Amino acid sequence: MKIETTEEKEELNLITLAQEYADEDKARALLESLVWPDGVVCPHCKNHKEKAIYKLQSKEGSKTKIRKGLYKCGACRKPFTVTVGTIFEASHIPISKWLMAFFIVCSSKKSISANQLSRMLNVTYKAAWFMAHRLRHAVSPEMPLKKLLKGEVEVDETFVGGTGDFKSRYRRQTPVVALIERGGDMATRVVSNVTQKNLGQVLNECVSKDADVHTDEHTAYRNPLKAWKSHSTVVHSRKEYSRRNPDGTVSGINSCESFFSLLKRGVYGSWHHVSREHLPKYANEFAFRWNTRGQTDGERTETAIGMVTGKRLTYRQVN
Ligand SMILES: [Zn+2]
Repeated sequence: MKIETTEEKEELNLITLAQEYADEDKARALLESLVWPDGVVCPHCKNHKEKAIYKLQSKEGSKTKIRKGLYKCGACRKPFTVTVGTIFEASHIPISKWLMAFFIVCSSKKSISANQLSRMLNVTYKAAWFMAHRLRHAVSPEMPLKKLLKGEVEVDETFVGGTGDFKSRYRRQTPVVALIERGGDMATRVVSNVTQKNLGQVLNECVSKDADVHTDEHTAYRNPLKAWKSHSTVVHSRKEYSRRNPDGTVSGINSCESFFSLLKRGVYGSWHHVSREHLPKYANEFAFRWNTRGQTDGERTETAIGMVTGKRLTYRQVN
């Protein structure tokens, strides 16, 4: 069953979402077309084309009102809507506001605070906070990565967060590792400590063994990276940040530095404080925008909405 939207679909933007899709039926139709680009899929048994899927509608004159957007699967006979089995399941927020939330987060380069999101969407702070968390959950990749980073890969770590005086800030800071394929995708991982064991695990989860890996002189990279095709370092303590090698390759971790500066502007500018527990999701939100940097804000919003399936998150899980 193919989803029919009312109009020829144009590039998503905030005006269109606020005006044309403010109506909940239209918003649901748009969501269906993004979640099910190839037609309706049953979230219970994954039936797609094998057996027919029916749209359930209230009969004219009938007293029993059927919930809008309800489908019934011809294979498992179970009813469902587009939100079942997604981050939207059991949410009381209208779909139209969810779509706007996706657009706002996807188009904010330095991210956005729950406070601001709450004011923009006219929802409570708690609702905005939880929406942003579910959105981040949707765009966070599963580990190990399905498509490992390859080619020239830069790896570096930084320390984020912490409050109080210098000493306690240092103690409470959280290491974040960025792994960036030059000209390609990136991944990010939060680790408890920067140790050989932790870095080895992160590299295993994210980087193909035949990649040429670039790091700084941090000794914890040395042993684990013996298992990779090549490992080249720049020595920051000697003010060496980028080096052209005789074979034409360039050593250095400038992409990681760019990513960290963006992430930190988000952490200190938009959120002011991020707990260690939630930092991985915030970092993933930034990685998602990095990985979709070639897309327009509208396209990025569609990409993010296409990732909501199989990603349920309950309030209890994040609180
Ligand atoms: Zn089914």
